[in-house]
Amino acid sequence: MEKGFNPIILGEKARRIVVKGDMRKYYRLVRKGRWYGGSATSDCCGCNLKCIFCWSNYPRDYPEKAGRFYTPSQIYNALDKCASRNGYRFVRISGNEPTLAFNHLLKVVEMVETSGKYLFILETNGILIGYNKTYAKKLSKYKCLHVRVSLKGTCPEEFRKLTGASGKFYQYQLKALENLLDYNVNFHPAVMLSFSTEKNINGLIGRLMEMDPSMVDEIEEEYVILYPHVERRLRKAGIKPRVAYKP
Ligand code: SF4
Repeated sequence: MEKGFNPIILGEKARRIVVKGDMRKYYRLVRKGRWYGGSATSDCCGCNLKCIFCWSNYPRDYPEKAGRFYTPSQIYNALDKCASRNGYRFVRISGNEPTLAFNHLLKVVEMVETSGKYLFILETNGILIGYNKTYAKKLSKYKCLHVRVSLKGTCPEEFRKLTGASGKFYQYQLKALENLLDYNVNFHPAVMLSFSTEKNINGLIGRLMEMDPSMVDEIEEEYVILYPHVERRLRKAGIKPRVAYKP
């Protein structure tokens, strides 16, 4: 029998903890940062995966203890204040998995769209966008939106080893790309390549080529950052990255 949890079920459990009406839990209201050449970011709590290299595992594993609830307006206002003060063009929700609170997310994106001031970067593992095609349809409404789908490895085996979820759910990550393509949403794939063999990388490139050859040029390579707690976890699991960076 294949090992690994079901991320749809885990995500639903987390959702029940981190969503209340149109509010969602965040462990950091806003921070400024250098990503995308400068962006304002709100960090949410709760995820449907358990990546071994995750740097924000506390709000992921203990969402009931971490953070506090914020309304979409509170999040938009915090992002707006930080971005305008620092002259940023980009705002994002990151930290854990933004799509767990989908209605809350859409309300924040709607406010960004109405403001006409920023591009909203949705950083997601894509599982729910692959599972539920209507998510891609709803996202297609927004001109201000760019989706970054972070693939956890290059194949089901790597996905299983890196996330703890059953390998068969890797297909939802790929399906997310297909759904976003079908609805003409702005997006690009990022791929965690620290643990991948050349053969597996080529296998993934082949699959992306079949979906849309232009996607291959847009792949963002991701490599693990060896924060002390991440390094400890990798050592304990006996997993050695092929390529990694120090923070
Ligand atoms: S998908 Fe992102 S937030 Fe969730 S466990 Fe993986 S790295 Fe952490």
